Amino acid sequence: RVVVGTKVDQHHVNWVTAYNMLTGIRFTVSRTNAKLDRALTDADFDAKHKFSFDITGNELTPSAKYDFKFKDYAPWVFRHLRAKFKLDPADYLMSLTSKYILSELGSPGKSGSFFYFSRDYKYIIKTIHHAEHKFLRKILKEYYSHVEQNPNTLLSQFYGLHRVKIPYGRKIHFVVMNNLFPPHRDIHQTFDLKGSTIGRDFKEEDLEKNPRATLKDLNWLRRDLHLEFGSEKKRIFFEQMERDVHLLQKLKIMDYSMLVGIHDLQKGNQENLRDKTLQVFQPGGDSPSDDVGPSGPGPLTRTPSKLETARKARELRQMVKQEKPIPMGQSSSRMPDTMEENTTKRDFIFYSDDGGFRATHEDNTPGDEIFFLSIIDCLTHYGTVKKLEHFWKGLSHDKRLISPVRPEPYGDRFIEFIEGITKSPEEVAREASQLSVP
Ligand code: ATP
Ligand code: CA
Ligand code: CA
Repeated sequence: RVVVGTKVDQHHVNWVTAYNMLTGIRFTVSRTNAKLDRALTDADFDAKHKFSFDITGNELTPSAKYDFKFKDYAPWVFRHLRAKFKLDPADYLMSLTSKYILSELGSPGKSGSFFYFSRDYKYIIKTIHHAEHKFLRKILKEYYSHVEQNPNTLLSQFYGLHRVKIPYGRKIHFVVMNNLFPPHRDIHQTFDLKGSTIGRDFKEEDLEKNPRATLKDLNWLRRDLHLEFGSEKKRIFFEQMERDVHLLQKLKIMDYSMLVGIHDLQKGNQENLRDKTLQVFQPGGDSPSDDVGPSGPGPLTRTPSKLETARKARELRQMVKQEKPIPMGQSSSRMPDTMEENTTKRDFIFYSDDGGFRATHEDNTPGDEIFFLSIIDCLTHYGTVKKLEHFWKGLSHDKRLISPVRPEPYGDRFIEFIEGITKSPEEVAREASQLSVP
């Protein structure tokens, strides 16, 4: 059976960290959102606030299960970003509440980052390196104005930047982002495309063991796949992608990729794997003694009714309005188990077809796939990589393999690659017939 991630319960090594992350987010987000909205100032971009949580609580912070420190960065900027991305504050809090267990995606990349899904799969928490953290703070203003001018940006949507530290533990920086893939749709294929071919191959024979693996550039080319958009959609997509990459070039960013998820409408949703996963997940109790017991569905899988869910959301909304900090121990420990679509996303063009961007033919009639597209991993600054390269230089003879490509050519190559694979089915057929003519 396919499981997306590992559930993070009390027995998980990262349980305390995950719990503290959620508790901190919940506290800081509701604190900021409880205030009357106001325009951003320059100081908001540099702002940081530190909070100490402990089991007794104090005048500022409520009591928590564990002792930890939490730092909140540029809360007003992220509040405004969340609003620009049309997130409902109460919804956001619901998804990331500390009561609900996350799932951990381990560390899919080489970078050592950890990924956690919110239990409803709408959000991803990614731990980031200190250098990435510093860099995001540095470029926050430019990122913000880019989002302002490009509501349909394909760049990762950042919803929060925080730091957590447990006593004697190290500082863990993390961002909250959108999960590109919709909770309510099976993604049949996933690709991470950089526009490079060196080392960009997922071993095809490993696909049997791991059919959900994220494939790379060479796998894409081998399958002769295309982002099948007719000229209208192609233009919209290409122009936005180009504007986004130009920003990344200007900020001297590299190593990002186009994450592509493909939902095949012919195959539909037969696998429904996320619903299965949820059965493996179990809501955590309030205290460690509230043990989750043996795994398996058991009595924990009751789905709250739509009414209950709506009531919960209303309560939370009310609390945010009344400027009350939301108590840590909410009465219900259940999440809405139905994987709901994030309907507000529909206002954004690349999320407008059932959460994605549907394939089209030349005559603009819809095709058989929905594409989920985003430029991800865009916090790697050229300067940092350059320093690392210096370190590695002495260790390898093949300079080509370790030498980072400069941000300018990296971006140009990226744009060229994406442009080259964006073709309507008719365009692909025309080219094939032209090739076969002697
Ligand atoms: P590396 O630096 O080694 O490339 P990383 O740790 O920085 O890796 P990312 O490149 O950001 O990680 O992401 C790794 C994988 O995680 C992606 O290929 C994708 O499968 C998944 N992923 C990342 N961001 C998202 C997202 N927003 N939505 C869905 N999946 C994502
Ligand atoms: Ca990456
Ligand atoms: Ca990375």
